[in-house]
Amino acid sequence: MPNTMSTQDLVHVLLVSYPAQGHVNPLLKLGNLLASTGLLVTFSTTEGAANFMRKASKNIDEPTPVGDGMIRFEFFDDGLGGNNEDPRRADLDFYTAHLELHGREAVTRIVKKHEEQGRPVACLINNPFIPWVSDVAETLNIRNAVLWVQSCASFSAYYHFHNKLAQFPSESDPEIDVQLPSMPLLKHDEVPSFLHPETPFPALAKAILGQFAMLSKTFCVLVETFQELESEIIDYMSKYCLIKPIGPLFKNPKSSNSSVQGDFMKADDCMDFLNSKEPATVVYISFGSIVYINQEQINEIAYGLLNSGVSFLWVLRKPTLLGPAVVLPENFLEKIGDKGKVVNWCAQKEVLEHPSVAYFVTHCGWNSTLETITSGVPVVAFPAWGDQVTNAKYLVDVFEVGVRLGRGKQTEKSGVSRDRIEKCLREAIGPKAEEMKKNALKWKKAAEEAVAEGGSSDRNLKDFVDKIKNVSK
Ligand code: UDP
Repeated sequence: MPNTMSTQDLVHVLLVSYPAQGHVNPLLKLGNLLASTGLLVTFSTTEGAANFMRKASKNIDEPTPVGDGMIRFEFFDDGLGGNNEDPRRADLDFYTAHLELHGREAVTRIVKKHEEQGRPVACLINNPFIPWVSDVAETLNIRNAVLWVQSCASFSAYYHFHNKLAQFPSESDPEIDVQLPSMPLLKHDEVPSFLHPETPFPALAKAILGQFAMLSKTFCVLVETFQELESEIIDYMSKYCLIKPIGPLFKNPKSSNSSVQGDFMKADDCMDFLNSKEPATVVYISFGSIVYINQEQINEIAYGLLNSGVSFLWVLRKPTLLGPAVVLPENFLEKIGDKGKVVNWCAQKEVLEHPSVAYFVTHCGWNSTLETITSGVPVVAFPAWGDQVTNAKYLVDVFEVGVRLGRGKQTEKSGVSRDRIEKCLREAIGPKAEEMKKNALKWKKAAEEAVAEGGSSDRNLKDFVDKIKNVSK
């Protein structure tokens, strides 16, 4: 920040994040970008999330100048302190209600404090699963925007469901296909699973749909996508609300220049392993930060890898609150020798950029989806739930950068066999591989152009910032 300027001179925005890796990361990238345009950004999430961020030794306890502005952090207690091991966090009915109760009070307090100190909040920005932030904004008479951290296609599915604009799977008709405007026909197991009568996490379904009940309180929906990737559906949904695609945020050169990065966990070093391999020979396998893979499925993946003979880098997370510990089959590491490496966590974006990586076996979370196509890396799609099943459909049939391994838990109750995994791993490097790689490289180029000066995402972000600055003048 220029020395002559005090924080009182900067237009102030408050960003509030749901405390999960795939939510904090993009919102923090947005925070950095907004700060770089000369705004004062206060980033707020729970103490528990802050503890993860501190472990990754990020500079989050001091305000940090970014470009012409500044980013600072203010964490709040979700009622469970900073203890990420508290088993009540796994009870999502309990946790989402608890988070709302404490979060509403905390966000109101933060806003009022800054108002008293001469730094009124001009805009409150939240990501999905905490729709109550939009309600707090309305009560306090502050503008609200949402950073939607999934695809615009998923946004459309939730929007149509909430507003009863199309027929979706129901208890009496659980296997109907869903046709939405400007989208391919979705089979029942390609519709975001939160919209199914038998959704695996009803509390999260309620929280995400809650955002659509709040949409009238939100003046702008910023979307972590880019115009060229989802043009038809973005244009269609723009008839209903102000949609601004501003991604991929992690590709924006201005967001990575900042000293405050959005990574949540400390990564294991994988570069020596990748450096030791020939170009385009390593399969990268990761299922994101939340999905739990059971022991039976871990065994099948392990033997599928072993039998296929491919080199691989596999992120096998330590147990999470959503599932018990899993172990590798006996002597697996001895059997693979230096063919493979298993880690707890890696720097995924760097891994995907590494020339040795041939393709990515992914659960198709939206961040992973964007990261892989914008690194030019094709996929083997293995979705579990939520929007992952819709992203898998797009990766394979619309973006044409992948082959499909699983269809999500709704149809794959017994999991995927080692033979199927082995076959799929071979298919991914077979005749289709060249075409998929070509397509992925096309998306990579389009993403780079979107975030470059004057690109579609850059223009949308500038326009959003202008709107905030003009209103607060
Ligand atoms: N990630 C990472 N290292 C890993 C696994 C995942 O950095 O070993 C990051 C990944 O780059 C992505 C995020 O974690 O940004 C996962 O988000 P995504 O939306 O793909 O899935 P979620 O975790 O929300 O299910």
